[in-house]
Parts: sequence; structure tokens; C-alpha cells
Amino acid sequence: MVMFDSLKILWHQGKQYIPDVTSAKIPGIFRGRPVISKASADEESLKELCPTGAISTGPFSIDLGKCTFCGECAVRYPEKIRFTSDYKLSTNVRERLVIYEDTDSPVLLDPGSVRKEIRRVFGHSLKLRQVSAGGDNSCEWELNAANNVQFDMSRFGIDFVASPRHADGVVITGPVSENMAGPLQRCYDAIPEPKIIILAGTDAISGGIFAGSPALDRSFLSKYKADLYVAGNPVHPLTFINGVLGLMGKKG
Ligand code: SF4
Repeated sequence: MVMFDSLKILWHQGKQYIPDVTSAKIPGIFRGRPVISKASADEESLKELCPTGAISTGPFSIDLGKCTFCGECAVRYPEKIRFTSDYKLSTNVRERLVIYEDTDSPVLLDPGSVRKEIRRVFGHSLKLRQVSAGGDNSCEWELNAANNVQFDMSRFGIDFVASPRHADGVVITGPVSENMAGPLQRCYDAIPEPKIIILAGTDAISGGIFAGSPALDRSFLSKYKADLYVAGNPVHPLTFINGVLGLMGKKG
């Protein structure tokens, strides 16, 4: 009888997890990869409007490593800029986060630029230490969600661990405040070789709205090259999972 009740509960709950994280669709008002048309617009005023300098002109482009996904540019010139629900915004080549006019192609990882040891050593299991380096807890919440029952990142062998000594790499969120520069360096030093660096979110990639602030110390990022840039503000769990799977060579 107890078993019958348990089966009934399982049947009612259905599948709790997303069966295929590489093809899942995001419903609602999520803003993902923008598409920029050739429609005429006052490009200089768009540039002025952008709070983080993500928009450049000549040629017109949006840098997703700087973009806060506030959507203001698309509200001002909807015929020029449209945000799609494409959440695959991770790459190991920083320049690939720049979206140009009149292109509608996905942001891709370059497998040829992935360090050989990453796939050889971490192809089946990757343990990560997360450092919130002056973050506002938005990216951190989304990274937590990546391990919940829906996204279930652990099924791919990817987990967050409690100590850098148990980790294969560091995931940095936040713009790296002066006070967090030292702890970030100590965390990185404590991770055994080989180790990877993932920058998650606009603040980590470029400083976001804090870029240029004297309260930041981003010297760590000048010293080491990131292995993966995960765009988003905050990052979506599916953006993170797909990016890391690509880095590990677990998906094409
Ligand atoms: S959505 Fe991005 S590019 Fe557009 S105004 Fe906001 S920050 Fe700038």
C-alpha cells in the first residue's frame, strides 16, 4: 500500500528535471542574445543611452560581456534591436561576445582554443569553487539554481564544492572589489593544478556598471586568462550549464 502511494506521488509529480538542457526553451520575458537589424537609428544616442558602454558604433555592435541586459536600447529602437530567448551565451573567446549588426548566429565556443588538459582531466567530472568577488548575489543565486532538482547539473559530474582544495577551478562572480582581490587570489592559489577559471556574469567579465570604479581591483584578471566567459546579468543556469558542458567537451 505504501509503495502504491509512493508510485502515485511520483506519477503526479511527473519529471522534475529538464531532460535535455541543450535544447530546453526558456519561457517568459527572458532576454538572451540580441539581434541587431540594419534599420536606421540614431546610433550615437543609443550609445549614450547604454549604462555600461556595451554599444559601439562603426560598425554597430553590442558587447555581451558589458551588457546588463536592461533592454533600454530595444525599448528605444525596437526595429533596430531585439532580444531573443537564446540563452547560449558562453564562449572561451572574449571577442565572440560581441554581437554585430545584421547577424543572427549563436555565440559559440572554440574547441580548438580549449586547453588540452581541461578535456583530458575534467572531461567527466568537474568540481568548482565559487567566489563572489563583490557580487550582488544575483549570479550566485542562479548558480545555486543550476544544482536544483530542475537543472540538476550534478548529473553531468559538475558540482560546487566547499573548499578550493577540493576544486578543479574557480567560478568568479561580481566585479572583483578591492577587498575580495586578496581572498580570490588565495582561493586560486589553493586549487591544485591544472585548474580553470570561469567568469560568470557581466560584472565578472567587464566590471559591468562598476567598471572603472576605484573600489575594484581587477588585477587578478589581467594576470590569468579565463577559460570560459558566461554572459548574462545575472547568468541563467542553462547558460552556465551549456557553457561548462561545451568546455568539458560533453556537447558539440
Ligand atoms: S540592453 Fe545592454 S546594450 Fe542595451 S542599453 Fe542595456 S546594457 Fe546597453
